[in-house]
Amino acid sequence: MNKNANNVLAVISGPSGVGKGTVIKRMFALDPSLCESVSCTTRPPREGEENGREYFFVGRGRFEEMIERGELLEYSAHFGNYYGTPKAFVEEKLKTCDVILEIEVDGALQVKAAHPSALLIMIVPPDMDELARRLRSRGTESEEKVAGRLARAGYELSKRSEYDYCVVNDSVDRAAAEILQIIADRKEVS
Ligand code: 5GP
Repeated sequence: MNKNANNVLAVISGPSGVGKGTVIKRMFALDPSLCESVSCTTRPPREGEENGREYFFVGRGRFEEMIERGELLEYSAHFGNYYGTPKAFVEEKLKTCDVILEIEVDGALQVKAAHPSALLIMIVPPDMDELARRLRSRGTESEEKVAGRLARAGYELSKRSEYDYCVVNDSVDRAAAEILQIIADRKEVS
């Protein structure tokens, strides 16, 4: 991948319920020069989601074609659907800005294997009890689904040592500022 100047490709993961989305939103509010990658997925749009904004929503056939043609930087199957990062989209954005990818661990490790200069950051909960509380407090999912997400969370957290940094989400402002600092420090040394 052609990476321009010293723009940083930052890959952010973290278990469901850790508050990743909120932290990332705060990062964009604090630093509007950041760019967010838009992934492709085969899952149907949720209410309020727009094609090209939250995701590019594509059919399985098109997704499999992208895999075959090498159009994805990484991809994985998650909760029965495919998710992947469009390579050309990210390359284009990296020419002008630091790019944030919010993806799960299997995809993140594929990015790192292909592009060792990528910065891998995992957002972790203050503790597992707190994560379970956050997942249940959403109140939208059955206990079985919560258990499934907790098991997946355990798997994601077991990969933390393969990440460059772990950031504890004990406060959204603090976690967002810490990640922005990690990105700024990387720019200084590269
Ligand atoms: P959701 O369906 O809730 O939007 O996302 C489910 C999971 O898919 C999240 O853990 C999210 O980080 C992950 N995900 C979103 N986009 C991508 C992607 O492009 N690649 C990979 N590997 N995972 C992704």
